[in-house]
Amino acid sequence: MKVTEHIQNAKGKTLFSLEIIPPKKGEKIQTIFDHLDPLMEFNPPFIDVTYHREEYIYKEHPSGLLEKKTTRKRPGTVGICAAIRHRYDVDPVPHIICGGFSKEETENALIDLNFLGIDNVLVLRGDAIKSEGSFVPHPEGNNYALDLLHQVDGLNKGIYLDDSIDKPSPTSFCIGVAGYPEKHFEAPNIKMDLKYLKQKVDAGAEYIVTQMFFDNSKYFEFVESCRAMDIHVPIIPGLKPIATKAQSTILPSIFHIDLPEELGEALDKCKDNQQAKEIGIEWGIKQSKELMEWGVPVLHYYSMGKSTSVQKIAEAVF
Ligand code: FAD
Repeated sequence: MKVTEHIQNAKGKTLFSLEIIPPKKGEKIQTIFDHLDPLMEFNPPFIDVTYHREEYIYKEHPSGLLEKKTTRKRPGTVGICAAIRHRYDVDPVPHIICGGFSKEETENALIDLNFLGIDNVLVLRGDAIKSEGSFVPHPEGNNYALDLLHQVDGLNKGIYLDDSIDKPSPTSFCIGVAGYPEKHFEAPNIKMDLKYLKQKVDAGAEYIVTQMFFDNSKYFEFVESCRAMDIHVPIIPGLKPIATKAQSTILPSIFHIDLPEELGEALDKCKDNQQAKEIGIEWGIKQSKELMEWGVPVLHYYSMGKSTSVQKIAEAVF
């Protein structure tokens, strides 16, 4: 079922959902099940699975020269989606990204997802890899999430890259996109960022999932600005429970977000990670309760492979 149908069927009740990341190459699928099993009591109607592009690694050759190789450290998104469907009565939402993929490879991945009966995709651009200063698109790929969205929307209309196909069968993916309450770091200002977000919605995005934020007023302002720009699709807040003391500086630097002063000071005072985790849970509960009262359609947690904090928050909120 589509994410938008789950939201409609909930008739105003806030749903619980989460995002997981594939395990590192070489680990077992059981890692995912161990993470998800304890969270199933909160009935997530859908679970997002992130996509990770290849990175370059440099290996020293016996000749002494450096050999450049590419590797995907967290492969398996499509397989994990199939495994989630098989084990739980839950709709997987694979992320698909522009970075590192030609349009042909993207089309093949979408065909696989369609054959597996997967109804949703979250369409993203992806970030630069470590060796690139800024995002470099694949020479035969999509530049922006909007271009990728056009490709998925085209497939939904039966438009394949090979236009010689006789009677092509259309797919029917429900398309989600990302939104940034604190602005995407590359956008010159929030207004331009919202203009590009509106282009994605006008081109067929049916819902938005936000970047993590720790100050609910940022989300409320973002929703208000979106509505003022005639963006009327559901806006799902993404929440990350802080799990370590170091995340008080790591998260703002990686995700280009602010931590409220009160949260930053509380984390500063923590003696160890256990205390920081408890603060993260308390903050997550406070944030979730307020968002639920406000009437958000879904509370979507970035679990990043750790279930205990999300579980404690969900126990207090759902
Ligand atoms: P876009 O919508 O393409 O926007 C990128 C930038 O370009 C923005 O600054 C925007 O304002 C600007 N822009 C857009 N259109 C134009 C235009 N026509 N001209 C000029 N500028 C333009 N990354 C992964 O690699 N894998 C994942 O699984 C993943 N999951 C994510 C899930 C969520 C909910 C979020 C919020 C992010 C996720 N990311 C993931 C990270 C994401 O790929 C990055 O934030 C990326 O930098 C931007 O992706 P986007 O889809 O928002 O890009």
